[in-house]
Amino acid sequence: MAIRNIVKDGDPILKKVCRPVTDFNDKLATLLDDMGDTMIAANGLGLAGPQVGMMRRVFVVLDQYIDEDDNEVDEIIEFVNPEILEKSEETITSFEGCLSFPGRNGLITRPAYVRAKAQDRTGEWFEIEAEGLLARAICHENDHLNGITVLDNANLFYEDMTPEQLKAVQELEDYE
Ligand code: ZN
Repeated sequence: MAIRNIVKDGDPILKKVCRPVTDFNDKLATLLDDMGDTMIAANGLGLAGPQVGMMRRVFVVLDQYIDEDDNEVDEIIEFVNPEILEKSEETITSFEGCLSFPGRNGLITRPAYVRAKAQDRTGEWFEIEAEGLLARAICHENDHLNGITVLDNANLFYEDMTPEQLKAVQELEDYE
C-alpha cells in the first residue's frame, strides 16, 4: 500500500494516449492497489493511470451504494484495457471535478447510462452497466486514457462564470 503523487494540470502526460496493459503481473496488482489508496486518500471518485504517471490503460472508480442490509458500501472497481460498449442517448449535465485539476469544476454533459467491458487485475474480462455518477466516473476516467480531460470536455467552469451563467446553471440543476 502506498499513496502515489497525483499529476497536476500542465503536465504533458495528461494529454497522451495510453498503451494497453499486456502483463497481468505483481507490478500491475501493486499499481492498482496504490491507485485505489491514492484515490481514497484524495477523496476522489476515480483515478486513471496517467494521473499517477503510468501511461497504461487502467483506471479505478469508487462505486458507492446501499446494499440489501442497508449498509453503505464503498467498492473500488478496477478497469484494465476498458472499452465503452454502449452509451444512452439520454444525458445528464452536471459539474465535474478532477484530482489533476483541483478547484476546477467544469460543466459537462455525459450519458446517463453506459455499458462497458474491461479486464480485471488477473486478465479476466467483465462487463458492467452503470448509471448516473458511476457512469459519469467511468466516462471521465476512460477519457483520461485517451489524453482527454475536463479542460477539453467543459466549456464552462464554475469559477469562471458570470452571474447570468450561474443563474442559468442553477435553473438547470433545479430542473434535474
Ligand atoms: Zn480526472
